[in-house]
Amino acid sequence: MRSSYRTAELNLLGAFIDDDLHYERGVRIYIQDNAIVDIEKGSEGRAVAVPAIFNSHVHTGDFLFNEAGYSLPLEKLVAPPDGLKHRLLENTDKKSMVSARKRAMKGIMSGGVIAVADFVEGGAAFAMEAKNCMPLSHLVYGRPKREDFESELQKIRLWADGLGIPDAFSYSEDEMEKMRSSFHGRISVHVSETAKSHSSGDFRTAMDSLDPFLLVHGVHFNKREINEIAEKGKSIAVCIRSNMWFSVGLPPLKEMVETGANVVLGTDNVGWIKPDIWREMEAAITLMRGVKEAGRAVLKMATVSPSAVFNFGGPIKKGAKAIMVLMDGRRMGMDLTYEPYYALIKRGGPEMVMRTIGY
Ligand SMILES: [Zn+2]
Repeated sequence: MRSSYRTAELNLLGAFIDDDLHYERGVRIYIQDNAIVDIEKGSEGRAVAVPAIFNSHVHTGDFLFNEAGYSLPLEKLVAPPDGLKHRLLENTDKKSMVSARKRAMKGIMSGGVIAVADFVEGGAAFAMEAKNCMPLSHLVYGRPKREDFESELQKIRLWADGLGIPDAFSYSEDEMEKMRSSFHGRISVHVSETAKSHSSGDFRTAMDSLDPFLLVHGVHFNKREINEIAEKGKSIAVCIRSNMWFSVGLPPLKEMVETGANVVLGTDNVGWIKPDIWREMEAAITLMRGVKEAGRAVLKMATVSPSAVFNFGGPIKKGAKAIMVLMDGRRMGMDLTYEPYYALIKRGGPEMVMRTIGY
């Protein structure tokens, strides 16, 4: 402690700091009243500090149906209303769902994730229960039932953070108009996950009818669509391992990044894909191989890019709130690496998390 007003100091092997996430070896971070009051060089320690990590797209309720119908194709498994998951959901009581959701969230957060954007199926009642599970770090995107539509919308508005819509064709134009007027800027929707959904024009319908802030998947987006997303300041949540598992293709991640679209990472269906953001980052860096500064770009997708979307967390810098994850840098060999971003992403994992700070 250098002076009396400083209440805590972190002696670190390194830290990814400021908006550009540049890596500094050997830094000391001073924290007072949950804020970063100073960062100085010349320290030695074991941990490496990483800004708040997000999982920007999951379905935690699936934890109740782990591995059910594991060999079914995407549509037969998760498409509403007849996919196996939705038939199972119909016969699920709220208590079992809450318990499964809490267990899923605990698992996700033990991997160093500080905030989760969750698509919650089952109408307003399930959205409300989900929000009660872990209100601070759990961002709930509810899905209104079509019967009693307006009251469903009102309840979700009261309880949830926004809407999580299965696809651009699940609701009528009139219903989407109502969603848009009461949830403007808080609508997220699955778009162009399959070649079939893309060729049916789901991108145009989603953009025109829902005006979403976050488009999930975009596996089949073309250059023109990616351009439009970047120009309009929307974000894309890519879920590479889910896309691989369901054999729908791979998202054009390089093009998305080169175009300047804001890309964030999600792990999608908890029941079939382990919600491990480290594995997702590794998948992203594999897809980005050969691109200059790919490691930094991928780390952004899990940290500062989602923090700008969800208005939570943010870079490690002087004056900012102290929200970060401490990773075991020594164990990952960060002191020996030639490339800190690759080291963190390829050698990191839930087992390397020492501590999360600030939530
Ligand atoms: Zn999804």
